[in-house]
Amino acid sequence: MRKAKILATLGPSSSSQEMIESMLDAGLNAVRINMSHGSQDEHAATIAAARAAAEKLMKPLAVLVDLSGPKIRTRTLAEGKPVLLVKGEQFVITNREIVGNVNEVGTNFFDLPSAVEPEARILLDDGAIELVVESKTDTDITCRVVTGGILSERKGINLPHTSLPIPSLTDKDRSDLEWAMGQNVDYIALSFVRTAADCKEVKDIIKQLNTRKLGRALLVAKIEKAEAIENLMEIIAETDGLMVARGDLGVETSVELVPVYQKRIIELAVAHDKFVITATQMLQSMIENPFPTRAEASDVANAVWDGTDAVMLSAETAAGKYPVEAIKTMVRIIDAAETIKADKLRKPVKFQQEPSRRTSQALCKAAAYAAKEMMTEKVVVFTESGLMARRLSSVRSGLQTYALTTSADACDQLAMIWGVRPFFDHRLNMSAKSRSLDESTMLDLMNVECDATEEMLKLGEETLLAAKVVEDGETIIMLAGRLSGLGLSSSVVVWTIGEEIARR
Ligand code: PEP
Repeated sequence: MRKAKILATLGPSSSSQEMIESMLDAGLNAVRINMSHGSQDEHAATIAAARAAAEKLMKPLAVLVDLSGPKIRTRTLAEGKPVLLVKGEQFVITNREIVGNVNEVGTNFFDLPSAVEPEARILLDDGAIELVVESKTDTDITCRVVTGGILSERKGINLPHTSLPIPSLTDKDRSDLEWAMGQNVDYIALSFVRTAADCKEVKDIIKQLNTRKLGRALLVAKIEKAEAIENLMEIIAETDGLMVARGDLGVETSVELVPVYQKRIIELAVAHDKFVITATQMLQSMIENPFPTRAEASDVANAVWDGTDAVMLSAETAAGKYPVEAIKTMVRIIDAAETIKADKLRKPVKFQQEPSRRTSQALCKAAAYAAKEMMTEKVVVFTESGLMARRLSSVRSGLQTYALTTSADACDQLAMIWGVRPFFDHRLNMSAKSRSLDESTMLDLMNVECDATEEMLKLGEETLLAAKVVEDGETIIMLAGRLSGLGLSSSVVVWTIGEEIARR
């Protein structure tokens, strides 16, 4: 089974239920809703279509909403016509309310003139056009064109290494975040993160608006600014996961540093139990063509070998001509890359770290050792919120993890996590409290807990047999998270399918 997951951006080419069904059939695991385009109502319809497709095909599907963040843009141009900026000539960026032309263009960030200094570099349209600031007034920034090109309307403005006095969460982001929480989405991505405080602000709102009984939407910090690279460790400590947002990262830092940062971000994320997505231009040429370039195939494989949880498609699936082919191509590349076992490429970092004294680490490592000893690659984890399955995934031991959960939300969320195949089974009640146990004597408690655990493992076995992922007589490892009602510690069980409990 494929371990690295596929996240695809939905857009005009791919937002119908029919198309999402074809993409799910091809191997899609998660969808991204990009709030930089479209209205909340349009996105609500797309999310409904995605969920209907997943329900029809009975496949888990994670939904990620990507907040635009404080993206600075140029404004409109006369008659909407692109203009040619010529090397060596002057060009003005202004906060005056104007319609732009070949000499000047407006910006959506009013304080831009006060934020920049002479000699600062300004990049337009993902770095295609480069300007250098010569002088400024309260309203106008006069620049010299260093690299010319054609400028269309509403293009991105990047100021590498300039710290901007701009809130990380705009009014639009706040409204979109509230809307997304109302849609009960699985992941919220925040663009242009600079510090851990940016992450904390969003995480606090997610917690405040959370409607799930167990777990919540997980925060993805998009790493795309030099400031975020400088503050990476504190951001990792605050966020649930990361995205290597290579598009803006390549503009905000420099293109040759993108692979260096990609390796560093993925390694640190996995080492600290955070999931990580590698994004942008992975199969760029497939926007127009049914086949990728050799370089793109190598890029996807290298992200898999780096240890990414998921690889992301942007315009390839949102606006490209071949969304389904792009998914199929990714599946083939990942399958081929994963024939080389991860531990042949690098030692799982978890086993080289200092002891953490955390129960979840102890159990996950124990499960990995037990699997090795029993010569099985299959570990079943019983998880209420999905947390234990994510912990087991980040051991990156090469195990095939089956996550069994009573939460349909956790099941969808886990669809994007490396090496985890989630199953939803409402019968698996993992809270011992809900079994109305008599807690009066320790003896009774232990006996009942034992029965309850055995019953739970048996039900799990049934689910796995029905899904045809295990066979009678096969030995696998079962990992049961802490039973919340009893407060008892968890178990790693060597379990032979079809037999009574073998060993605990
Ligand atoms: C990126 O910059 O790589 C990215 C994923 O962000 P966006 O697509 O929102 O620009």
